[in-house]
Amino acid sequence: MEPLKKSARTGKEKQQKIFQAPKGMHDILGQDALLFDDLRSVAGAFADSYGYQYIELPVLEDRELFVRSVGVGTDIVDKEMYVVRTQGGDALALRPEFTAGIVRAYIQNGMQNLPQPVKAWTFGPAFRHDNPQAGRYRQFWQADFEFFGADHPIADAEVIQFAVKLSEGFGIPDVCVYINTIGCAECRGQYRKALKAYYRSKSRKLCSDCKRRLKTNPLRLLDCKNETCVMIRKNAPETLEYLCKDCSDHFRKVLGFLDDAKIGYFLDPYLVRGLDYYNRTVFELKSGNQRRQESAETDGFEQNAPAREPLSFGGGGRYDYLMKLLGGQDTPAVGFALGVDRMVDLAREERAKAFKTGPNVYLVQIGDAARMQALRLIEELRTHGIAARFDLSRDSLKAQLRNADREQSAYALIIGQKEVLDNAVILRDMQTGIQESVLMHKLLETLAARLKQKHKTR
Ligand code: AMP
Repeated sequence: MEPLKKSARTGKEKQQKIFQAPKGMHDILGQDALLFDDLRSVAGAFADSYGYQYIELPVLEDRELFVRSVGVGTDIVDKEMYVVRTQGGDALALRPEFTAGIVRAYIQNGMQNLPQPVKAWTFGPAFRHDNPQAGRYRQFWQADFEFFGADHPIADAEVIQFAVKLSEGFGIPDVCVYINTIGCAECRGQYRKALKAYYRSKSRKLCSDCKRRLKTNPLRLLDCKNETCVMIRKNAPETLEYLCKDCSDHFRKVLGFLDDAKIGYFLDPYLVRGLDYYNRTVFELKSGNQRRQESAETDGFEQNAPAREPLSFGGGGRYDYLMKLLGGQDTPAVGFALGVDRMVDLAREERAKAFKTGPNVYLVQIGDAARMQALRLIEELRTHGIAARFDLSRDSLKAQLRNADREQSAYALIIGQKEVLDNAVILRDMQTGIQESVLMHKLLETLAARLKQKHKTR
């Protein structure tokens, strides 16, 4: 229920609504905001070195784009899309994921005419009207990477290696790859038949969604999180038994390359991912820390994998049919998305160590003339790469020095009336309390030397 607060002003019955962020959506503040930004920079640096170019996409796309790519029968399309009607009557959807949008952009912008392969990445919020819970939001952030124009299994391995290295580079502990193959259009037909036959015999026990999936999209039965359906899944046929020779060779080579690159993985025979556009290799990333926490309840799904599977922080796979399905030229593709919110949660402790910023200075002013001087000085310090903290609206020396203390500033630069007249600044070492008067034209030089010294002794 929405909290209501009595208006403080009137004190009468009139009640004032306290606005909250929409359910499942959250503000990103303080250190988390820094970590989001940090992940974006780490992703950008890795993207550069693996040859991905950054692109920015609209938050809204034609609803039909997701229906056609992600697929009818998936949770995303059936239950989770935020659809808006424009005044002109168009149905647009807040993007629930990025791949379809990037493929649309590739086709629309003639990227097939660029030298292939083309690698693109993007970063931003996605929206799914899911049941909010720990690590599951209705607005969440993804870093998304797509690699177009390479059908060789080395591309799958390269993408997985990239995903693992980026995650490790950000500080995710013990990154684990869960991998499977879901075959091609041909062998998947056989597999779908076998799945249908298996699940039909259990249909009475299935949840209502799965009863529907059995008719519309049997592969999605394997995604169901309902407890009974998860139990039933344990004896379901596995994709590996139904692969054609080409798909089997492809998968074997992907695993071979991963072995060579010393990227560890778990074979997960029921990993199919909740989106329809994938073929052949699919994978998810989890953190070993989560895995160990949960593996106390292991039920033997795989020798060393957990019973209640922890949430993945990333996932992807190959999608060779999507470009054509969306009206482009036949173009093989492979890619993945990382969940930024979950990665920040997993790496918070490790990454926070990187935020021990260098020493800063606090600007203290007393009186209007000093205020003017301070305003000029802020800009001068900034252009010389010195971070200054300040509150120009204050007059009290004591209050400003208290702030400098709270900010853990190395030095306070104090400007009073005398300093304005002398064109000087008082430089106060916040640790020792020692003060000295420095002429303004000597300040940058003196400060740079002192800060350098502080850096060394930290
Ligand atoms: P997907 O697009 O479903 O393959 O998801 C890729 C990654 O995005 C997941 O591994 C999660 O880290 C993240 N993700 C997906 N859905 C959500 C959500 N509702 N809330 C938070 N993160 C999510």
